Amino acid sequence: MFLPTLLLSLYALCCKAQLRTHKCVHHHLHIELPNENTRSVQLYGNEAEPKEMKETTDEQAPLKSTSRRRLTKSNIRIHTEFSSALAASTAPLDVNIRAWTEQAVTYWQSALKVEPVSTLSFSLTCKSLIDGPWDDGSTATQCVEYVATEQCNAGETIPSAWLKGGRKCTSCYASSPSSCTGCTDIAAGAGLANKDYAILVTAENTATCQASTSTLGYASPCKYDQFDRPILGHINYCPLAMATASSNIAVAAGKHELAHALGFTSGTFAYFRDPTTSPLAPRTTRDAAGTPPSSAKVCADGNTRTVVTPNINTLIGPMTVRDFPHAYKISTPNVVKAAKEHFNCATQDGMELENQPTSAAASCWGSHWEQRALHTELMTPVTDESSVVSTFTLGFFEDTGWYEADYTKAEPLPWGKNKGCNFLSDSCNTGTKSSPTMMLQNEGYFCNEAYVSGAQSTATMTGCSHNGNFKSYCSLSTYSAALPSAFQHFLNNKNGGALAELDYCPIYAGFSNGDCSDTTHQSANNINYYGDLYGSTSKCLRGTMIHTGYTLPSKELSTCAAVVCSADKSSATLTLKDSSGGSQAVTCLAAEKGTGKTLTNFLGQVLCPDLEVYCPTTTTTFVSWYKNQTIVPGTSGSPTGSPNGDPTTPPSTAPAPSSSKDDGLGKENLPAKGDAVMASVSFVIMYCSILAVWVVGMV
Ligand SMILES: [Zn+2]
Repeated sequence: MFLPTLLLSLYALCCKAQLRTHKCVHHHLHIELPNENTRSVQLYGNEAEPKEMKETTDEQAPLKSTSRRRLTKSNIRIHTEFSSALAASTAPLDVNIRAWTEQAVTYWQSALKVEPVSTLSFSLTCKSLIDGPWDDGSTATQCVEYVATEQCNAGETIPSAWLKGGRKCTSCYASSPSSCTGCTDIAAGAGLANKDYAILVTAENTATCQASTSTLGYASPCKYDQFDRPILGHINYCPLAMATASSNIAVAAGKHELAHALGFTSGTFAYFRDPTTSPLAPRTTRDAAGTPPSSAKVCADGNTRTVVTPNINTLIGPMTVRDFPHAYKISTPNVVKAAKEHFNCATQDGMELENQPTSAAASCWGSHWEQRALHTELMTPVTDESSVVSTFTLGFFEDTGWYEADYTKAEPLPWGKNKGCNFLSDSCNTGTKSSPTMMLQNEGYFCNEAYVSGAQSTATMTGCSHNGNFKSYCSLSTYSAALPSAFQHFLNNKNGGALAELDYCPIYAGFSNGDCSDTTHQSANNINYYGDLYGSTSKCLRGTMIHTGYTLPSKELSTCAAVVCSADKSSATLTLKDSSGGSQAVTCLAAEKGTGKTLTNFLGQVLCPDLEVYCPTTTTTFVSWYKNQTIVPGTSGSPTGSPNGDPTTPPSTAPAPSSSKDDGLGKENLPAKGDAVMASVSFVIMYCSILAVWVVGMV
């Protein structure tokens, strides 16, 4: 049956355009960093004395100070301590939170190695110190009183069984000699045997959660070993927001937060160690107290602040990148190596950190990778269903000096893969403002045509996300005020992409019902006009294909099809469903990228995809920069569904641009939402913050 009017209504009943993203916004009030109160000396290996990291000598190498020696590291053993309320709960959400957390813990345990700790324990925090000399002749300054309750992040109580011992007195006075009375020993707890790290996990609707009902959670480290490695951290999940998250997003959130708690946070950069030295020498010079230097820096938000500053071997900036003048980059060896290899850019000098203020004043350069550079990486501020842990984040962890990374646990990152130096250095609009040419538009990257749902004559084309996972629309939006000058890509300076973190570059963003792997989106055969086939192997394909008997589309559309790659990844078989539900297949060779192919029982053509993206290698070949390094001595959302989807789906409109986050961070010059294009948009904002912790002052 051929009914032109039916097609018109099809276009009118189009897509659910909705951003499937979740933000992680740090709002560090204060970062609790390694210091005399937060460092706890750990015993490594079988050493009786905690002098330094245990080493072994490569028996094949001569025993010289410059010979290659290696530290014996093993997979990190993480103790997960759920709060009593969370542990005891049988509520489905809490059961899920425990399971999601365990998945995140399992991942990091498999991906990171550390020097094993014999029994993990945490020092008591001193409240009162008295100087010697003492009546026994000793001269040392001694702690005579400890804080009443040991906490992580001024909130979560650390179990007493994990604490080291001490000695406190009821009365002390400083004189010559100093003396105390009523002294008793505080017995040490048993500690955590055979654990290298502990994470306290809560799910409480805290004030931070209530400040934004879309907050998913927050996390930070709070205790460190003598080499500044985080050994204790805290994650709080916000239960109301977590209840709305898909399991993919929830697990990604758990992995993301745990990564922050393991040390992926702005304040730790200056505390990195150099694993080519033994013992681990600081990458950034310290003062006598072990504190790195501070200097005045122009921060990513444009304000100048005096901040603890990492060495340029760790962090570089501020520098101008794509017209933004206050960019910072991680410049450590594996991160630089990963950047050169991933983008195929030999001159890349580091990896940018997010330039939008996802942190409060305490952070000058942020705690995430730049969204524009590494879009779907786990540690960018905006998380979606496609988030992956790449060599960038594993390389980062190795560059801390505290971890060794297992790069076989890295997942392929399609964004920017082999796109060259210009991908990072050029504007997403490589043409002029009046005549835009959007970078890699045909490959699902940047675009400049706002999505319009409607009749065939008025609807805009749809596309595929850059990774091929989603049927997508162009996320161009109009704001109510001009965008910051560095991010004005178009003649109308109020136009830009929906995500500030993508430097306001519009991209092909997935429809909320555009996930090709989700079979719940599959339409009945008689209304599956465009041949969608959803499934675990399905990917989004561009083209003009439509069941015979209907009108050939005038605009390029997107369709989900099963994509099965040959073993050598030189070809792929694409399978769509015809009007009777039969499978219709066509084969594309790698060299046929962009070539149109016809299918039996279909009008139009399907375009062969880029097999580098659609048939990715799932194993990484990344080799750590440290391999073979000499160790030296150191000092100490879619058409009806998609445009082609379920005709019963109510019509919807284009998404709103990212609104000002209600994080109280005072984002300057951030345009408010424009009125013309606004519709519902459901960002879940995931605060992963470093909570305020006030160090109890020594008296
Ligand atoms: Zn984060």
